Amino acid sequence: MRKIEHIGIAVKNLQESNLLFEKLFGNPPYKEEEVESEGVKTSFFMNGPNKIELLEATNPNSPIAKFLEKKGEGIHHIAFDVKDINVEVDRLKAEGFIVLNETPKRGADNKLVVFLHPKSTNGVLIELCQEIS
Ligand code: ZN
Repeated sequence: MRKIEHIGIAVKNLQESNLLFEKLFGNPPYKEEEVESEGVKTSFFMNGPNKIELLEATNPNSPIAKFLEKKGEGIHHIAFDVKDINVEVDRLKAEGFIVLNETPKRGADNKLVVFLHPKSTNGVLIELCQEIS
């Protein structure tokens, strides 16, 4: 695993949170994107070298809707940049981590993504992401 690629924050209302984070960082999101298969609408901010992803649920069965119900708004996941996502998945499985989707899926912002179950990572949802070239 390489650097932290971004931190994902679950929000109730993306438009309101976009304004809030725009005030915080001093610049607007550089991208908004809906990932229909995941039931989320996302926006991305760059702040210096750091990237923040905001996520809003687009339907009640979305993982984000369930997260908000259980925990409320806040940090939802930490994403790490990986060079070869399949190699990382094999390595982490061999180490005993629970992989939520073994076949990488298309995430937001031009990435292939795999999630690790938080019950195998001290309660933190970890996203592995590989840039699609
Ligand atoms: Zn993410």
